[in-house]
Amino acid sequence: YHAKEQGHSILPYNASFNSMTPKRIALLSDLHRGIWENQLRLVYQPKVDIQSQTLVGFEALLRWQHPALGNVKPDEFIPLAESSNFIRPLTSWVLDAAFTQLRRWRDKGFNVTLAVNLSVRNLHDQGLVESIIQSMANYELPPSCLELELTETVIMSDPKLVQEVLNGLHDHGIKMSIDDFGTGYSSLVYLKRLPVSTLKVDYSFVVNMLSDEQDEIIVRSTINLAHNLGLKVIAEGVENLETLKRLGELNCDQAQGFYIGHPLEESAIEGWLNENQQWRLKEDH
Ligand code: C2E
Ligand code: MG
Ligand code: MG
Ligand code: MG
Repeated sequence: YHAKEQGHSILPYNASFNSMTPKRIALLSDLHRGIWENQLRLVYQPKVDIQSQTLVGFEALLRWQHPALGNVKPDEFIPLAESSNFIRPLTSWVLDAAFTQLRRWRDKGFNVTLAVNLSVRNLHDQGLVESIIQSMANYELPPSCLELELTETVIMSDPKLVQEVLNGLHDHGIKMSIDDFGTGYSSLVYLKRLPVSTLKVDYSFVVNMLSDEQDEIIVRSTINLAHNLGLKVIAEGVENLETLKRLGELNCDQAQGFYIGHPLEESAIEGWLNENQQWRLKEDH
């Protein structure tokens, strides 16, 4: 009476499939279709320099408009893609869309950097560095306009491999930052050795830093740690002017968050840029 005996068994029943409920398998299969049926797009969230009050670049964030379910959040479908090999074509799609956008911006004379988020699985791709370099060359983009964001947990999952891949990217002039910093367990030894330029303080510490003393201590210590290691710091999750001001007082270099700009559709970018070519604190207006 087992499905297998009736010849219906399509799924290997092993450990990796235990977390794959029928719902998740269906969603993953929808994602496969979605990539071909134009349901994916990137949105772009600005990053600004606090002291000079200028725009430094954007972070590309993936969006999926599912035909029946509507907007599916990346926190739902990225882990799904990560648990299968689909993260590979998905990341290729993201990089290609990011390069296309960078090319368009540069053709308009707008030279800005774009950050792309990578998953740990991407670092296991033998050809990752070469394919990024080759692809950027095809788009005639200098490697310096790309930044790659890797979460702290990614880095600590396989520090030796990560260091090797990051060195390769760094040798080609690609910038890298550590995302969600403070939520994983970074070894400071690795942190010191890695060729990253920026730490991103996780939003969970930033959103409440004005009311929660512990959070402010964590933010302040992270800023000092980064600076002592010769790294820049960006705070994510900046939702109001008061937080931005406090970060400035604490010598935080850059900021990102809803107060500065929500992730923007491509069509909304030009309007935002026109209003924010020289990004200013609202109080100065
Ligand atoms: P992340 O890279 O840490 O991105 C920041 C997330 O915080 C984004 O959520 C952004 O919309 C949100 N955010 C920005 N400003 C604020 C703020 O002021 N307050 C609050 N509460 N949230 C803010 P999103 O777009 O839903 O992305 C979630 C995560 O999904 C990202 O976290 C990233 O880890 C992952 N992700 C997104 N796009 C990609 C991608 O193309 N590839 C990979 N591998 N991961 C991606
Ligand atoms: Mg990120
Ligand atoms: Mg983050
Ligand atoms: Mg995050």
